[in-house]
Amino acid sequence: MKHIKDDRLRRFVAAVFAKASSSTHEADMIAKRLVDSNLMGHDSHGVVRVTSYIGWLGEGKIRPNMHVKVVAEADGFAILDGQGGYGQVLGGEAMAIAIAKARKTGVALVALKHAHHLGRIGDWAEACAAEGCASIHFVNVVHAGGLVAPWGGRERRMSTNPFCCAMPIEGREPIVLDFATSKVAEGKVQVARNKGIDLPPGCVVDGKGKPSLDPNDLYGPPPGALAPFGDHKGYGLAFFCDLLAGALSGGGCNHDGHPNVGTVHNNMLSIVIDLRRLGDASAIDSEARQFVDWMKKCKPVEAGGEVLAPGEPERRTRADRLARGIPLDDNTIAQMQDAARKVGVATAEIDALVA
Ligand code: NAD
Repeated sequence: MKHIKDDRLRRFVAAVFAKASSSTHEADMIAKRLVDSNLMGHDSHGVVRVTSYIGWLGEGKIRPNMHVKVVAEADGFAILDGQGGYGQVLGGEAMAIAIAKARKTGVALVALKHAHHLGRIGDWAEACAAEGCASIHFVNVVHAGGLVAPWGGRERRMSTNPFCCAMPIEGREPIVLDFATSKVAEGKVQVARNKGIDLPPGCVVDGKGKPSLDPNDLYGPPPGALAPFGDHKGYGLAFFCDLLAGALSGGGCNHDGHPNVGTVHNNMLSIVIDLRRLGDASAIDSEARQFVDWMKKCKPVEAGGEVLAPGEPERRTRADRLARGIPLDDNTIAQMQDAARKVGVATAEIDALVA
């Protein structure tokens, strides 16, 4: 494990994507979002993705320098097409449209289809919260083949379908709930595989339907499947992520009529609420504040423990990693350097990553 400071990592990742046909803005956005995920402790959605993005780009499965195209629009809603471009840019553009609409109508519904990987969905909820908006996001993944078995099933059917919502509180960090509806995100299986460690129990069934702790069993052959979180309830939420994000956006749900072209296209349905347009904003803020404080005052199960609000673990990790650097395993570093070499980043810049 090496610890690399966030600004050095950001420079490296931006240099890779700038060499790989992205505009400076796009390269900077990709670098910012990936490194932010690492800072927040979600290494599964961080710079470990550089290699696969560069691979997909080479195969023509990501279209650089795309922007959202409005497919349909009215005061309170928009359907947007990401045209297979980088989610790190498209997600921000979609949220800017949603926030502007929410400012006018109080509530906006924005569906973004065909974005390449949108990364950590919390990024988009935090963008809304920074503008005083609460938000709810349902996301599915298409074109990657199924990954998650339905409750009671042992075959891949859905993706890890993330669900996210956030609530701003004046003068405090927002409350952000952001998770995959599989028991673990697929990226966490990749990270465990790179580190050569076991998964927690209940995350994966192997290709024969048997529970397994070995991250390699997800990939096979024969390929296994991820389990949904929360038994039938988590499965139900994942089900609705596919329905709402896939069907309403026009980007499609997972089913056998949907082609698996071997990449990650996210569809995201976002509901964005401008709290200042909902009547008494200070009463909303006061209730939220009291509720959070009430939760946090709860006595912990374990001596020395603490009850946290959603979003707090990420902020603590961020503060720690800003100070100490981002821990990266040797495999991930080597894979990123390889990707940089492939696109023609100068050797000195590649070496500078771990100098
Ligand atoms: P996770 O299991 O770590 O859960 C994270 C959520 O739980 C956060 O909101 C966190 O604040 C909260 N949390 C964790 N511990 C807590 C505690 N002790 N008290 C209170 N709240 C607590 O997340 P995950 O399922 O591994 O997902 C990781 C990331 O992967 C997310 O950012 C998600 O958006 C992303 N993801 C993206 C895609 C995609 O297709 N783009 C797919 C799957 C996942």
